[in-house]
This record gives sequence, C-alpha cells and structure tokens, in this order.
Amino acid sequence: EPETSKPHVVVLPSPGMGHFIPLLEFAKRLVVHHDIHVSFLQITTEASAAQNQLLHSSTLPPGLDVIDLAPANISALVSEETLVLTRLCIIVRESLRSLKSVLIELGKPQALVIDLFSTQAFEICRELSIPTYTFFTASISFLAFSLYLPTLDREVDCEFVDLPEPIQVPGCTPIRTEDLLDQVRNRKIDEYKWFLLHISRLPMAAGIFLNSWEDLEPTSLKAIKDHIFYRQIPTPPVHPIGPLIKQAEASVTETDAKCLAWLDKQSSDSVLLISLGSGGTLTAAQLTELAWGLELSQQRFILVARKPSDASASGTFFNVGGDINDPTEYLPEGFLERTEGVGLVVPSWVPQVAVLRHPSTGAFLSHCGWNSILESITHGVPMIAWPLYAEQRMNATMLVEDVGVAIKPVAVPGKEIVEREEIERVVRMVMEGEEGKAMRRKARELKDSAVEALRDTTGLSYESLSRVIKEWKLEA
Ligand code: UDP
Repeated sequence: EPETSKPHVVVLPSPGMGHFIPLLEFAKRLVVHHDIHVSFLQITTEASAAQNQLLHSSTLPPGLDVIDLAPANISALVSEETLVLTRLCIIVRESLRSLKSVLIELGKPQALVIDLFSTQAFEICRELSIPTYTFFTASISFLAFSLYLPTLDREVDCEFVDLPEPIQVPGCTPIRTEDLLDQVRNRKIDEYKWFLLHISRLPMAAGIFLNSWEDLEPTSLKAIKDHIFYRQIPTPPVHPIGPLIKQAEASVTETDAKCLAWLDKQSSDSVLLISLGSGGTLTAAQLTELAWGLELSQQRFILVARKPSDASASGTFFNVGGDINDPTEYLPEGFLERTEGVGLVVPSWVPQVAVLRHPSTGAFLSHCGWNSILESITHGVPMIAWPLYAEQRMNATMLVEDVGVAIKPVAVPGKEIVEREEIERVVRMVMEGEEGKAMRRKARELKDSAVEALRDTTGLSYESLSRVIKEWKLEA
C-alpha cells in the first residue's frame, strides 16, 4: 500500500476562522504539492458549522483526512463575561485532553503542526517523541513582538501602555503603545495571562512556519534571523512559507453567486469591499457613520453587514456566519433604497477571496486580520485599514507606514468614532485619488512577488517548506 510509505503529519488549528482557514490551506499544500498524508484535527465549537461548511464547499484532496476531536463541555468554566481569548484557550485546553489517545490511535505521525494557542500539545508530543511545529497565523513582526514579550514582562513593572516610548523589539520597527493588542493592555487580567502563557512556550517548537514572505516583511524577517535577536531571545528555526491564502470555493451558495454576478456587471476596479473578518462588529453609532460615508462617497461597494454591537468589536467570533440578520433594522433609514444599484448589502458573510479576485473589486475596507491582508495583497487590492481587535492595530500601522498599500481614516480626537466626512474622504482617495493608484501599484508588485515566492520548486517559500519536509521524509 503506497499510503504507508508517505510521511504522516497531523495539523491542529485552534478555534477561529483566522486559524482554521490558513491551517487547512497548509494541510492541503502538504498533500497536493509535497505528497504527504495529513490528518486534520478539528476542535469542535459553536463555530464549527461555518468550518464544516468550508470543509464541504472546498474540494479536499485524497490524503487529507478530517478528524473531529470530542467536543469539550465548557459551560461550567466560562460565563457571558469571559473574554474572547480566555474562552478560546479554555476550549482548547479541554479539547486537547483527548489529544494523546488520538495521536496514539493514528500511529506515530512524523510531526504535529499547531498554531499559537494549542501549546499543551508540546508536552503531549514530547512524551510520544513527535516533533511539534508552530504555524504562526499572523505577521512576522507580530512573531518578533511575541518572542520578545516574556523579556518585556520580566523587565517592565508598569502597564506596557503607560510606557513613555514605543516598544523596541530588537531590530524591528518600534511599536507605538497605542497599537498594542488588547490582550497586553492590562496585565492583571486572564486575557494577558493566557496570551503570555502560550507565547512563552513558542521556543518549545521544533520550528515556526511563517505565513509571510521576505518581500512583504524584510525588516522583521532579517531581525528574527539575526544572531543578536536569537542570542537575546530564545527563537526556534523560522521558515517563511507564505503567503498561503484560502483558495476560492469550488461551490458557492446562492447568495454568494448573486454577489459575484453583481460584480460581473461592474467596471474594473470600481467596487469597494467592506468586510470585517469573521468576528468583526462595529458600534451602532460607528456603523451609521460608515453607511453615510459610503453613500456620500458615491462609490460602488459591497458591504458585509453585521448587527452592530456596542459591547464587543469581535461580536461574531464564536458565531461565524450565524448572525443571520436584517440590515434594514440597523442601517440608516432609506440607505438601502438610496444606494440601490450602487451598492450591495450582504448580511453576515461573503466569499471574500472570490470577491477580492474579481476584476471589478478596486479596494478593500478591512479590519486588518492577517488572512484578509494576505488575500488583499495577493490580489493586488489596496486597503482602507480599519483595525478592531487582536493585533490588527499593529498590522494596520505596518500596512500604512512600512508597506504603503493602505490608508487609515482618522478618528475624531478624544472620541473613538470616525465621522462620515472622513470616511468619504478616504474612500474617494483609495478609489479615485493618486494615493489610491500608488497603493494599487505597490499591491500589484507584491502580488507578483508572492507568485514568485510560492512557485513550485524554485520559489523561496516553496524551498523553505521543502527543506522541512525532506527531514520528515527521512524519518518516515
Ligand atoms: N471571510 C470570508 N467572508 C467574510 C468574512 C471573512 O470568507 O464575509 C474569511 C476571510 O477571507 C479570511 C477569514 O475569513 O480568510 C478571516 O480571517 P482574518 O485573519 O482576516 O480575520 P479574523 O476573522 O481572524 O479576525
């Protein structure tokens, strides 16, 4: 049986579409391009419906087996108030109680690949002598920050947000304290403790796969590979293998098909996509301003509409696509009528990659999740940066200041709201202005460089992954 001589690798994403999507792409790539047998372990949660839909709508190659871990009952361990990362980490901890027996049952795989928040796997795999790798689902500069955080935690007494100067990760662009992610803004709460716990364990990995490539993040990649960095900071070998992005779905739902048919009728680069990731939600006041700003800009758009939430910016993180809603209930009165033909309002979810790939799509107002950024850049689409949660403020600053493919609207000082005139201004700028043209040129250059990086056998990202796989094959 040929199957038995193939290396067997287990891939385990933690919950959340932003983890699930890139790890599934990674798994497919191992199978299709590198002839590996992959078992893809799924942690089942409230969000599994969306994940399952994805598993069924994309064609999974033979040699990729999906296995559900036994669902964990966490009802006694969390409450309504439990914040997003804490909830996620508790789900993972409870779900991984069965990991050891699952791995034994699967025979001894050559390697396990996890993402950032499943680091309990390190001990389990050490007992079984299985090397464990991390697939880092965010930017290289965020990895550098993460590797540095335990040092910062030891050396700094106050809250990081109260530091007088930006944070200087060795060799990297300084990080402004206002861009720090929510999880490190208050060191006394569980969100910080969970984050620090997992990232402190990154050095236990046999290697870290990076979903990025040199041309996108030259400074951070050079910094991490520099001996000064890894002399000061424990750093496993890093392998830039990106950008791996979700492939457009093989089959689309009826609403998806309608959205793509509408795009077919628009002229090239004329449509702005507004989509805030799998979890993003705006406050009611901000959504009203956004709708007015769009209308005032008179540009064509597709708006992925979510019910506003004043409580949380990641309102649908655990209920992806499940927020079936009626936009007339929360968009400004008459908005749908006045923008008919100019814009398309789609409740909850669009086939984002297919939309970004479409020639009519000219720009993307994005919450700056790392997957969304890669999807936009690899299709040569410039962005309006609208960071909401996690490390998105750091991503937004990088896109605007280092990469030059995005513009960020300015909120009214003292208030946290971006007003309609400002939204109108940035939308016009990216769709019609000279700045927009320059950003689109830059995005297209990076698109070409991404194709080169991934090219079979000769691309740098292909080569980095091949090197690791050679080791796995030697052990198989
Ligand atoms: N996505 C999608 N349709 C939507 C919203 C999101 O297909 O309406 C996909 C998007 O293409 C991306 C993922 O969901 O692959 C979101 O990942 P990202 O890292 O951008 O953000 P997160 O959801 O983790 O905050």
